[in-house]
This record gives sequence, structure tokens and C-alpha cells, in this order.
Amino acid sequence: MNAAASGLSEALAASGRECGGCTLCCKVYNVVAFGKPAGKWCSHCKPGRGCKIHDNLPAECAAFDCLWKTMPALPMHWKPDQAKMVLTVHPQTNNIQVVVDPGQPSAWTRPPYHGQLRLLAKSNMAKGHLVIVFVGELATLILPDQDVQLGVLTLDQVVSVTLETGPGGTAYEVQVLNRRATADGQTLEVASTSRHAVRSAA
Ligand code: SF4
Ligand code: SF4
Repeated sequence: MNAAASGLSEALAASGRECGGCTLCCKVYNVVAFGKPAGKWCSHCKPGRGCKIHDNLPAECAAFDCLWKTMPALPMHWKPDQAKMVLTVHPQTNNIQVVVDPGQPSAWTRPPYHGQLRLLAKSNMAKGHLVIVFVGELATLILPDQDVQLGVLTLDQVVSVTLETGPGGTAYEVQVLNRRATADGQTLEVASTSRHAVRSAA
């Protein structure tokens, strides 16, 4: 992950929702500027209090876009310090990325979160966007009716899902693709493909 992190309770309150005692993004993401690894508290963070250097933030922290803060339709129980996971929208794919507190790796499987992630997957799939949960580098694709373990998903990889109908019925074809730079841009190479029968109307 190279998403930025921020724990500012004051400066990032543009949407009317404030971080308050939440500082989870300062733990779950890496910060390139400091070489801070994902999953460890930033040395500048006072957990539960905020950032100690908020007047001199790295650009990646200042630019962080927390979905709970910018999407009022997301209920209060999705506040990251309650949910134990942080939601963002990937700027290129528009996929919803759910990054789970490694100290609570099964948080996303609990009710009501898991059921709501499935609903989010259903509504987003109609728009061509996916919901992907990360616990560390391990990724799980949330589909409207099932979860698909993707294994380690790196920054160079993208995920594609298509619905395929054949003699055996309708299935999701899930592909993980490697992005590779070429002289005239980039190309995508298939790293893995799996098929998953649709279990209910998607
Ligand atoms: S610099 Fe501040 S906002 Fe950025 S991760 Fe560290 S504590 Fe959080
Ligand atoms: S995860 Fe969201 S609510 Fe929590 S500190 Fe970061 S920006 Fe604020």
C-alpha cells in the first residue's frame, strides 16, 4: 500500500465529520516520507490523540482521503476506530479499499460489517468497481454473494471481475493482472484466473 495516512482531528474535518479519537490511518498505512511501514504506529502519532506534527505534514498525509469522512452516507459505526478498518477509494480504479487494523484482522468478518461490505460490493459492481479488503498485503475480494481470497496483492497488480455465462451457469471470472511498463506505456499480463459460480442473483 502506498496510500497516505493522517490522524488530524482538526485539519481534516472538511466534511463535517471529525477524526476525534481516531488515529487508525496513522497505523494501517505506510508513509513513504518516513519509511514508516504499514501496520505500525507512526512515530509522530499519539494514538487516540492525533498527529504531533500537524503543522508540517508530509504531502501524502495531507492528501489522505478517508471515505468515512467524505461519505456521509457511511453510517457512524464505520468510523475507523470503531470499525477497526479504514475505507478509501482507489484514485485510478475507483475500487473501495478496506484496510484492516492488523491487531484485529477479523474485524471485517463481523456483523454488521461483512454484510454491508457485500451490499457495497453489489452496488459497486454495477458501476464496474470492486471492494477489496486488505489485512496487511493479503487481499480478499468481496463479491455480492461470496468472498474470494486473492493472496498477496501488490501495487503493480490490478483485479478484474467479469460475469461469464456457460453451460454450467453463471460464474465470476476473477483475474489478477500484472502491470508492466512498456516503451509506449504499460501493458497488463494475466497473473492468475479463477472462476466462482454465482450463488445468488448478483
Ligand atoms: S505524520 Fe502525522 S498524519 Fe502522518 S501518519 Fe504520522 S501521525 Fe499520522
Ligand atoms: S482513519 Fe479517517 S477518521 Fe480515522 S484518523 Fe484517519 S482520517 Fe481521521
